[in-house]
Amino acid sequence: MSMETTAWTQLHSVMNAQERRPLARATLRRIAAFARPHRRRIAQFVLLSVATAFLAVATPVLAGHVVNAIVSGHDEAVVVRLAVLIALIALAEAALGLLGRWLSATLGEGLILDLRTAVFDHVQRMPVAFFTRTRTGALVSRLNNDVIGAQRAFSNTLSGVVSNLVTLVLTLVVMVSLSWQVTLLALLLLPVFVVPARRMGRRMAGLQREAANLNAAMGTRMTERFSAPGATLVKLFGRPGDESAEFSVRARRVRDIGVRTAMAQSAFITALTLVSALALALVYGLGGWLALRDTLEPGAVVALALLLTRLYAPLTALAGARVEIMSALVSFERVFEVLDLKPLIEQKPDARAVPDGPVAVEFEKVSFGYPSADKVSLASLEEVASLDSRGGAEVLHGVSFRAEPGRTVALVGSSGAGKSTIAQLLPRLYDTDTGTVRIGGVDVRDLTAESLRETLGMVTQDGHLFHDSVRANLLLARPDATDDDLWDVLGRARLDSLVRSLPDGLDTVVGERGYRLSGGERQRMTIARLLLARQRVVILDEATAHLDNTSEAAVQEALAEALEGRTAVVIAHRLSTVRAADLILVIEAGRIVERGTHEELLAADGRYAELYRTQFEESGSEDRPSPATGASTATEVKATAVTVTGVTGIAAAEEAVA
Ligand code: ADP
Repeated sequence: MSMETTAWTQLHSVMNAQERRPLARATLRRIAAFARPHRRRIAQFVLLSVATAFLAVATPVLAGHVVNAIVSGHDEAVVVRLAVLIALIALAEAALGLLGRWLSATLGEGLILDLRTAVFDHVQRMPVAFFTRTRTGALVSRLNNDVIGAQRAFSNTLSGVVSNLVTLVLTLVVMVSLSWQVTLLALLLLPVFVVPARRMGRRMAGLQREAANLNAAMGTRMTERFSAPGATLVKLFGRPGDESAEFSVRARRVRDIGVRTAMAQSAFITALTLVSALALALVYGLGGWLALRDTLEPGAVVALALLLTRLYAPLTALAGARVEIMSALVSFERVFEVLDLKPLIEQKPDARAVPDGPVAVEFEKVSFGYPSADKVSLASLEEVASLDSRGGAEVLHGVSFRAEPGRTVALVGSSGAGKSTIAQLLPRLYDTDTGTVRIGGVDVRDLTAESLRETLGMVTQDGHLFHDSVRANLLLARPDATDDDLWDVLGRARLDSLVRSLPDGLDTVVGERGYRLSGGERQRMTIARLLLARQRVVILDEATAHLDNTSEAAVQEALAEALEGRTAVVIAHRLSTVRAADLILVIEAGRIVERGTHEELLAADGRYAELYRTQFEESGSEDRPSPATGASTATEVKATAVTVTGVTGIAAAEEAVA
């Protein structure tokens, strides 16, 4: 019949289309790799499909026998026996149908699970550089939409293709054996379909890809704009009208694609139904004519007509399968694209732990440039056509220093000098280009990620908190900590009275990005986390902003606790920290230009002295401790508070050094 071959050709054109694209063959191979663990289920499913197909052709053939029995006037018992057999087959078909669906659903959902966990695990191992570039919405869409798209292919389409193909082939074989002339005539209508079907399939795949990208873009926009800081920004500076207009352009395009896809699909199915009806007329015409001339039994005509109607279902499924396979391949490719991104930073197979006891931190001739975009990200996740392959210019040039165990090194210098970059190399957020970073005498690249995490704590300026309870946010640092431990560190971080005053105490959910807490409170929360984790090395990026006098003082006290007895690298913005440091490094343009203690550097009267005068004297106040007097901690805390309030605005505080 025409339609069987249509389906065949469609399937073929899918395969051909893939061969034309180099990626697809590899994609198929990898899909096979994902399917391999499920091969027993797949084999069971194929066996089941074959059995179902046999049952499906048996009924029309038996119906033909019934007609022949009636026409030739056999005894009634034969007809009744045939009818009972047909009933039993119907029951068996129903049972096998259910079993088959269960198998294909299990396979499909199993695949979703495998893909999803693989992508999640992989993304989690990506370096921070990846996350600084990638748009969260686009990434989430990979984990949701594309993984589900891939699964749909597997459970509906691939399994549908297998069972429908078996049915098709078997039906064709039986039809040819009944009358090759009738079968051939019915197949003549076939070419009408082939050409438009092929063209449509290609167009559909293109549209699906476009729709997936648009959906991801909208997702990104929503996650960005609807976060508290994003929404605030839009309220302050944004043009909600423009935002909505831009959004609706994309949403409209998705609607148009949806309508076009639906119409194309339904046009296809209408055409298929029509051809099937026309073919049926041909079967009755030619079959009846042959039967009248006694070259065909009347039962064979009935069987052929019934078989033809049974061809319709698998054909429709296969016709849809073509489009679905195409879009599924796109989904698979988009998932594999993420899985293929090599994490720049990986643990060595023979990685070791940091030696016990107090540890030193050491930089030896470290040079570093931020990796180029194409090394860390995917164009489709950043919504750009192609990624910049230019490597970042070198940011650090031959930096060497050593923080002795239990001592504090302060990094000072103008904004953009490279202080944060130095800090980021320690926990291996990035790896050095040349030179070595060591903790406890061991190259950080030779350490296990776990040991590095256990040894090294970092307090950043923004003090990120997950949208979760205070307890959960703290337990991140030490999952086995008791409530007593939590209250202890909250007390030491000067947060206990605040947490006690919260409606649900430790169980109060702190909003996304910890939005309901003030900047100072958020930072003290991260300090509490640090105290809980009890890491031996602490990296601290001192806040330049958003602290008022009281919280400033509280943060300072908490920090003093946190740094006690620990090896610390502090990006210092406060005089008190700088003065207390065992070693001060002045960083300018990626180089250490001066080093020494506060007194030594003041005496040298170089860049540090200049910084000291501009930063601290301008913000200056009567409370500023004189370098000579060696002020007490209390005075220093006070002085720092004044320093911050004295400088007008965040920018001033940051740039004053420059
Ligand atoms: P500091 O902490 O002293 O203010 P940074 O270490 O943040 O300075 O920055 C040093 C230089 O590195 C700057 O020129 C900055 O533009 C650049 N830089 C910082 N982060 C990145 C990044 N993720 N990708 C590329 N360049 C960066």
